[in-house]
Amino acid sequence: MTQETTNRLWTETLYSSYGQSFRVDEVLFEEKSEHQHLMIFRNEQFGRVLALDGIVQTTERDEFIYHEMLTHVPLVAHGNAQRVLIIGGGDGGILREVCRHNTVKHVTQVEIDASVIELAKTWFPAHSNGAYDDARATIVIGDGFDFVQTTQERFDVIISDSTDPLGPGEVLFSKDFYAGCQRSLNPGGVLVTQNGVPFMQPGELTNTAARLSKLFVDRRFYTAAVPSYIGGLMTFAWASNNPDLARIDLDTLKQRWLSQNITLRYYTPDMHQAAFALPRYLLDMLQTEYPAI
Ligand code: SAM
Repeated sequence: MTQETTNRLWTETLYSSYGQSFRVDEVLFEEKSEHQHLMIFRNEQFGRVLALDGIVQTTERDEFIYHEMLTHVPLVAHGNAQRVLIIGGGDGGILREVCRHNTVKHVTQVEIDASVIELAKTWFPAHSNGAYDDARATIVIGDGFDFVQTTQERFDVIISDSTDPLGPGEVLFSKDFYAGCQRSLNPGGVLVTQNGVPFMQPGELTNTAARLSKLFVDRRFYTAAVPSYIGGLMTFAWASNNPDLARIDLDTLKQRWLSQNITLRYYTPDMHQAAFALPRYLLDMLQTEYPAI
């Protein structure tokens, strides 16, 4: 995969006609693993940046938005998540946030590339913040697609923190992956996934919507703007056979949240509820009338 580091500028290769460039203040690490090209560099605005196969995965400065929203929305909505599965997420940010919940008794993380975990521990220690040593955590090095097809375990919440649907991450956007997640959920459980920036990747939104609709009673999307995932709002897919989970009232969310006693920088119960409101252009892409019935 091409890595352009021209005049100390590194340009992301995600889109062919548009992109973002970072000034590379220092290359900290670069290597091709068995699965992907890994690069870590420092940028004045974003701090340390992790790129896989030429695509930004996480940065020190804005990771909190993504990790908090992909974790706390499903966990607080569920209210008593004891068993959690993370697919991907090698940088450790999701594991860190899951481990903050005192309802959680066990968390399994399935990451295909052990080198991402090891590098993140070295270069992004605050991402996992010790969570890899949490006694509740089991780390499996393997393909998340295969895991959900074969596991006999059942989970209350599944979080897919994958790369974009290119390379090893492509299978994590397939109908069979979502079906595997559905069979691995406890009754009333919920699956959430990172689902790209729909202004730039409209097909990702519509494909996921169509695939999840065939499998789950309730599928919807919620959003957050993460500066380094350029192009405006990013979507998180939500799929559950319990439609009530996405409609928990604000007082209940607040009560649950306060009982967890966790201090964060982005998530609040109000943001949780507001994140499910979609702008008209996304409703149009999803062919959803307003108000949704
Ligand atoms: N937050 C990021 C984003 O939205 O771009 C994702 C970051 S996280 C580092 C993505 C992880 O998914 C990577 O560590 C990658 O190795 C892992 N991954 C990709 N394909 C996978 C698969 N099939 N099974 C398990 N993990 C996978």
